[in-house]
Amino acid sequence: MPTITFLGGTDTVTGSKFLLASDGASLLVDCGLFQGPSEMRRLNWEDPAFEAGLPDEVLLTHAHIDHSGYLPRLVGHYRFAGPVRATAATVDLLGVMLPDSARLQEETAAYANKKGYSRHRPALPLYTEEDARRALDLLVSAPYHDWFAVPGGRARLSVAGHILGSAHAEVEAGGRRVVFSGDVGRWDIPVLKNPEPPTGADLLLIESTYGGRRHEAKADPDGMLAAAVEKAVRRKGIMVIPAFSVGRAQEILYRLRGLEEAGRIPRLPVYLDSPMAIDATELYRRHHEEHDFEMDAIEDAGKAPLRPAHLHMTRTVEESKRLNDLDPPAVIVSASGMATGGRVVHHLKRRLPFRQNLVTFVGYQAEGTLGRSLVDGAQTVHIHGEEIEVRAEVTMLDAFSAHADEEELLRWVAEAAPRRIALIHGEPEGREALARALSGVFSGEVLLPARGGTIEV
Ligand SMILES: [Zn+2]
Repeated sequence: MPTITFLGGTDTVTGSKFLLASDGASLLVDCGLFQGPSEMRRLNWEDPAFEAGLPDEVLLTHAHIDHSGYLPRLVGHYRFAGPVRATAATVDLLGVMLPDSARLQEETAAYANKKGYSRHRPALPLYTEEDARRALDLLVSAPYHDWFAVPGGRARLSVAGHILGSAHAEVEAGGRRVVFSGDVGRWDIPVLKNPEPPTGADLLLIESTYGGRRHEAKADPDGMLAAAVEKAVRRKGIMVIPAFSVGRAQEILYRLRGLEEAGRIPRLPVYLDSPMAIDATELYRRHHEEHDFEMDAIEDAGKAPLRPAHLHMTRTVEESKRLNDLDPPAVIVSASGMATGGRVVHHLKRRLPFRQNLVTFVGYQAEGTLGRSLVDGAQTVHIHGEEIEVRAEVTMLDAFSAHADEEELLRWVAEAAPRRIALIHGEPEGREALARALSGVFSGEVLLPARGGTIEV
């Protein structure tokens, strides 16, 4: 009987790792990093089940670091050398994201050594850029929709609609079928195709990030974005949009172009100021197999769907610094999305003290981040050791999300029609809420596995 061991991503939304073992063969589905508070990040240093033996292969649902970012550790520390399968777009995105994650690990260790606050001397990075490069060498691209061999059986991927390259994974092993939802995307959002739930699982592992929550039904992202841009134009201000480099930045560019074409906003200078977002935008453009009907239609008409009329991509630090002297009105899209680091922090420092400017958040702001303080209405914030007055208008457009909400998750489950369900990848509250919601519509068993636990499929 095949078994699944839950190595992470159970009662948290990070560290997704699920080990499927069957007839002496083993497949690790997702290889995510624990992120967030220090007690969570510490789990990355604990020796998980890999001490006892490495998986034969790894299969990744998508490139987000909470699903892929442990891979360089598995390669660097544990000497994993097997194939790592993922969609072609995920393979390309990882080429940008894993080295970036490694640089962050190395910077964090260097900073701890400089400040002398690490208990370990010297503080070591969880992994290095060299480890990330070696992990990239193991990547093998897998198709959507066609079966391919994996240890102990076979697997196939379907569209998840969450970020570029994101997939649901269906694995058959030991006469059983297991479906791994990965992160479930949304129906009818720009650029990407709709989710395609695989059907007929003996066991479904489904994420529960948005259990108990509903996206605003009447939310109109285009209308909200247009209104914010209009304000910046009227006030002759600079609009700063902190956005995640992969996914949200591209959605913003797509919507701005569409609004310009429809004559709903003027054609302003738009600056994409994040090297990773620039690289990701190129991958979003290039991977035609990922595009939805509307995206194709715009391209077929000879237009560039991700290019507002006056788009400038600022790759170098010098170009980025020059944005300090920008003539308003203009829009700056920059990372990170929660303003926890990256170039957007410099733009906030420069733009927050002036009333004519707008700071527009377009994604979830976690507790304890600069983004959250601003959204919560802070009058002053500390940036780079300086106290900065907040006079710009700060708004949160909560019409944007890359995760299915509870209603959409239930719709996904209804289409997938599994025999049993294990709820994963959610805070305890979200998981329990989704379990309650499922009890009304699903008659099979619903499991809430714990980290380290093993179940039979
Ligand atoms: Zn994700």
